[in-house]
Amino acid sequence: MSVQKLVNEKGLRIDGRRLDEIRPIKMEVGLLANADGSAYVEQGRNKVLVAVYGPREAHPKYVGLHDRAVIRCRYHMAPFSTEERKSPAPSRREVEISKVVREALEPAIFSEQYPRSMIDIFIEVLQSDGGSRCVSITAASLALADAGIPLRDLVAACAVGKIDGNLAVDLSDIEDKLGDADMPVAIIPALNRISLLQMDGLFTEEEFVKALDLARNACMKIYEIQKQTLRQKYLQEKEEDNEKG
Ligand code: ADP
Repeated sequence: MSVQKLVNEKGLRIDGRRLDEIRPIKMEVGLLANADGSAYVEQGRNKVLVAVYGPREAHPKYVGLHDRAVIRCRYHMAPFSTEERKSPAPSRREVEISKVVREALEPAIFSEQYPRSMIDIFIEVLQSDGGSRCVSITAASLALADAGIPLRDLVAACAVGKIDGNLAVDLSDIEDKLGDADMPVAIIPALNRISLLQMDGLFTEEEFVKALDLARNACMKIYEIQKQTLRQKYLQEKEEDNEKG
C-alpha cells in the first residue's frame, strides 16, 4: 500500500480520472513517407510512433519460412522518453517487450498469405508514462493496417491494475509504481481472443475476473477509436482523389 493516496474520497485518481476511465487518446495513421505503413498514438503522456515494412522478400533468404511470413518486431525506448534519461543501450526489458508485442499481433495477421516474406515492425517510444507496451500494440496494429497487410482484425490493448485496493484501468507510471498490481491485456475482438496477458503483482481470483472485464471494456473503447482513425484517413484520401478527378 502506498503512502501517497492514489484514489481520493470521491473515487478519483491523481489525474482526476475515474477508476474505469482510460487516458485521453489521439491516433494518426500514414504519417511517415518512407515506411509502408505507420501510426502515431498518444495515450495520456505516452507518445509512440510505429513504422511497418513489408511484406517483402525475406532477406537473408534462410530466415524465410515456407508456409508464412516471418514477423519481426523491435520495441525501442528513446533515451529522452523517461523522466530519468534511459540508457541508450538495448535492455532486457526492450527484448522482452519486443517479443510479447510480436506475439500479441501475430494471431491477427494473415501471415500464411506471404510465405518466404517478412514483415518488420519498428516501435519507437518517444515519451512513456506507464502502459507503453499496450500503446505500442494498439499503434502497431494500426500501422499494419495502414501498410495494407491483411488482418483478421485490429489488436487493442490496455492495462488494468490495483491502486489503493481498487481495480483501475490504464495505469499511469506513478500508479504502476505505487500500486499493488498491473495486468496488461491485448484483445483481438473479431477472434474473441486475448493475445497478451501479463501480470505484475497479485489479484484474488474474484479481482482477476473483474479486472479482465474492465480490460475488455477499455480495449473495446480503444478499438472503436482505432476503427474511426482508419475510416477517417481513407475517407480523406477518397475525397482528395475525387478532387483530383
Ligand atoms: P509499460 O510501459 O508497458 O507499463 P513497464 O511496466 O516495464 O512497461 O514500465 C512502466 C513505466 O516505467 C514505463 O512506461 C516508463 O515510463 C518507465 N520506465 C520503464 N523503463 C524505464 C527506464 N529504463 N528508465 C526510466 N523509466 C522507465
